[in-house]
Amino acid sequence: MQMHIRPIIERKENRPILIAGPCSAETEEQVLETAHGLAALGYVDLFRAGIWKPRTRPGEFEGIGTVGLSWLRRVKEETGLRTTTEVANTQHVFEALKYGVDVLWLGARTTVNPFSVQEVADALKGVDIPVIVKNPVNPDLKLWIGAIERIYNAGIRRIAAVHRGFSHHGDSSYRNVPRWQIPIELRRLYPDLQIICDNSHICGRRDTLFDVAQRAFDLSYDGVMTEVHPRPDEAWSDAAQQITPVQYGDLVSRIKLRQITSDDPEYVHNIEHLRHEIDEIDEELLNLLGRRMLLAQGIGRYKKRNNIAILQSDRWAEILGRAITKGKAKGLSEDFVTILLRSIHEESINHQQKVMLEEEIKKGVS
Ligand code: PEP
Ligand code: MN
Repeated sequence: MQMHIRPIIERKENRPILIAGPCSAETEEQVLETAHGLAALGYVDLFRAGIWKPRTRPGEFEGIGTVGLSWLRRVKEETGLRTTTEVANTQHVFEALKYGVDVLWLGARTTVNPFSVQEVADALKGVDIPVIVKNPVNPDLKLWIGAIERIYNAGIRRIAAVHRGFSHHGDSSYRNVPRWQIPIELRRLYPDLQIICDNSHICGRRDTLFDVAQRAFDLSYDGVMTEVHPRPDEAWSDAAQQITPVQYGDLVSRIKLRQITSDDPEYVHNIEHLRHEIDEIDEELLNLLGRRMLLAQGIGRYKKRNNIAILQSDRWAEILGRAITKGKAKGLSEDFVTILLRSIHEESINHQQKVMLEEEIKKGVS
């Protein structure tokens, strides 16, 4: 669907959009202390604080509720910072609008559910307010786009996407794995849609927040959303990933914004040369993969003749284990090699299966 989306905040002189504030509003003092600490930095665009918290397990702190909205109003009055909070149903929308929240956001657990997104969209009909849409918890780009479309269809034009990473099974150094290719594809499809990185929920810890934020800016993101708390260890939610206003100021000061391109002839010459080499390697990779699939087809035929199952778990474990070891020696991460090999293996199985089916059909005909 064609959308004419506008920025949620006009970026001045290539300056990033900076959204910061606590995971949750806890007390009036905590909210105001954070806001004053952030306002003192002079560059924060939006103050965030969760009022209603969608928690994974019951019994955890589920948000302070409506009373927190009056604290956000005080933040605006005292510091001039504009505010944003998460809304997940009609009542949230009405309350947030009543208290003058400036920007609304849809959380990952809302984006995943079209009924909830539609409920929020319906509550927003006729209202002109910027809305930011977090990615769904599962790595499904269509669901993310669908949520943006529902909000757009309600008449909202100032929309941004927030990349907060995706749930996963198994070990990872991330709380929510970033899968950067998903927001990159979103950018390709909707170049006018601002994309903001929620480094806090991707990392789930403090020590990697800078690296993830920098990575986002290296990919030309428009901004970053970070959880900030005056005493992070005491936070009522997401304590491990929050940082103090001072630590936040340090993080922002270290971020380097990249230019999209340069006119310098030496740069242009060198980058063209390097890109040419990359293109050649990509072509080689595809040729090799094509050859690998032809071999898989041969194996499929052979297995069929001997009535052997396609999937050989031991063999697959051996291939993966070997690739991880060899990949490591070449500086490739285990995550990358695993995803790559899994994908190649799946394609091989599909090729084998196709060949086996064709043989069945041939047999049936003859
Ligand atoms: C949050 O921003 O505190 C939050 C609950 O985020 P998400 O919806 O990305 O999990
Ligand atoms: Mn949080």
